[in-house]
Amino acid sequence: MSLPQFDVQGSLFESLGAIAPDLFSEGDKYKLFAKKIWPVLAGCREQLMECYEVDNGRPGVEPVVLLGVLIFQFLEMVPDRQAVELVKYHLGWKLALNLKLSESGFHPTTLVYFRQRLIEHGKAELAMRAVLAALQKEGLVSKRSKQRLDSTHVLGAVARLSALECVRETLALALEELKPKLVVEQRPEFWELLWERYLESKLDYKSSEETLQAKRRQAGDDCLRLLQWLEPCPSELRHGQQVSLLREVFAQQFVVEANGKIEPVKVHATGVVQNPHDPQAEWSAKGRGKHKKEWVGYKVQVAETVPKEEGQIGFITSMVTQRASESDDPGLDVTLEKQAQMGLERPSEMYVDGAYISAGSIHQAKEQGWNLMGPAQPSAARTGLDKAYRIEAFDVSISERKAICPAGKTSTQCSQLTEQKSGKVTYRFEFGRQCRDCPAKSLCAPKDQPHRTIVVGALHEVLQQRRREQQSPKFKLQMQQRNGIEGSISELVRAHGLRRTRYKGFAKVDLQNQLVAAACNVKRWLQKLIKATSQTDREVHSSHQRLLTSSIVPLRSVFSRWVARLAIFDFFGAVLA
Ligand code: SF4
Repeated sequence: MSLPQFDVQGSLFESLGAIAPDLFSEGDKYKLFAKKIWPVLAGCREQLMECYEVDNGRPGVEPVVLLGVLIFQFLEMVPDRQAVELVKYHLGWKLALNLKLSESGFHPTTLVYFRQRLIEHGKAELAMRAVLAALQKEGLVSKRSKQRLDSTHVLGAVARLSALECVRETLALALEELKPKLVVEQRPEFWELLWERYLESKLDYKSSEETLQAKRRQAGDDCLRLLQWLEPCPSELRHGQQVSLLREVFAQQFVVEANGKIEPVKVHATGVVQNPHDPQAEWSAKGRGKHKKEWVGYKVQVAETVPKEEGQIGFITSMVTQRASESDDPGLDVTLEKQAQMGLERPSEMYVDGAYISAGSIHQAKEQGWNLMGPAQPSAARTGLDKAYRIEAFDVSISERKAICPAGKTSTQCSQLTEQKSGKVTYRFEFGRQCRDCPAKSLCAPKDQPHRTIVVGALHEVLQQRRREQQSPKFKLQMQQRNGIEGSISELVRAHGLRRTRYKGFAKVDLQNQLVAAACNVKRWLQKLIKATSQTDREVHSSHQRLLTSSIVPLRSVFSRWVARLAIFDFFGAVLA
């Protein structure tokens, strides 16, 4: 598909130009979008050209318009079909997207293909990058700023299935994929049986546990039977998308025992396929007890600038999509990497919660010349030991190779331990004879140990310093700057649909997240412009008022002087008479 002719400002002045001033005030969001955001999107056209053939195929719908529609979809939370209707009927959209009044819209699948184009050509972040660059140009985001970071879960666009349902559904998809590739004579003798079992029958959820287990084993047998039959077949059959997925699911869900019997696995590994309709959506959980939250989907790291003053607006600086099972710690590195790609320097300070804090991350930040601000997590609790005698209660000095316990006793021995495989260095401090007569021994050392031993990492002093710092009122006050990210995530979820993905697959989910971030930044920028416009209007109004008042005052004095003269004339007239 080739590109159409691009007219930067034709329609705005040709068609809507005549009625726009009456319909849209200066502070109207669509008018401001046309004035400020549209030129930013138009600036992306050169990059969008790479997604199209230069001189081949029929001209497509203008990609800058489509990029604008994608942003509007997440600004106003509308699906593809409704977005196309708005392009056709909504004057605000027409004005903002520089469309002619006669624009009749396009087929909704155009948006589907356009998103696919963006992904295939590595342009998923195009809108977000362009908006962020424009914000930098306007001086609203600086290259190096204070930032805050947090993560949230994104629900996949698929149902959560049981292990049995997942295998059955994968088998059904594989059979559907094979059907058009195999003529009836080429199909195996068990084809009809599998087709009837997995495509024409439904699972009875009320069946007993034994029945369901038997069905699971049977599904495992059927998987293996089909995969073994496919072994000598041509590559086109063996390596189809759904057949490859079936092979993967079989390996995750079953073990083939030495006697050839197939047994379902009891404990699933992290990251196994949960639903074959989106194999990249993973199961994960967070929180404990009644706050425990389980989901199938993805995870996103959201970073934004911390406003310099209260009442100011911060802007999203990066949005990183992760697999649901990934932890926050590597999320920080990926976030900084992404920001560097977008032309941002390391933040002066980054406010995070305890999940991002480790001795290594604080140390690395210091080495790079910035501050990672967040509370260090308490050390792991050991059953039967008092909270007061955890590692953080010991004063450790690795350089001096000594540790002082809560009872004020100094360690008797320090050994450096190096893990052979990873090369990781740790230090073990032992408190020997001092523990013998210590009244707190039962609270400090486990029963089966004659004395207390602590093992700390090579950077433990960094962690120790942070644990002390975080108790100070100054640190607590500084950490209040992190709180705003919770509100921003809530805004992204409620106003821009971050919580639930509309699409399937990691690449599409990432594209959605980038569009959500771009839409949020556009909205915040427009809010700032609207505020500035209304402030200017108020100033103009008050200056008119002042002008009016200042011209009334001299008039009033001239009038009063004139009245006074008349009164004097009246007085002398009366005297003379
Ligand atoms: S048990 Fe040993 S390490 Fe623990 S407080 Fe007593 S003396 Fe110190």
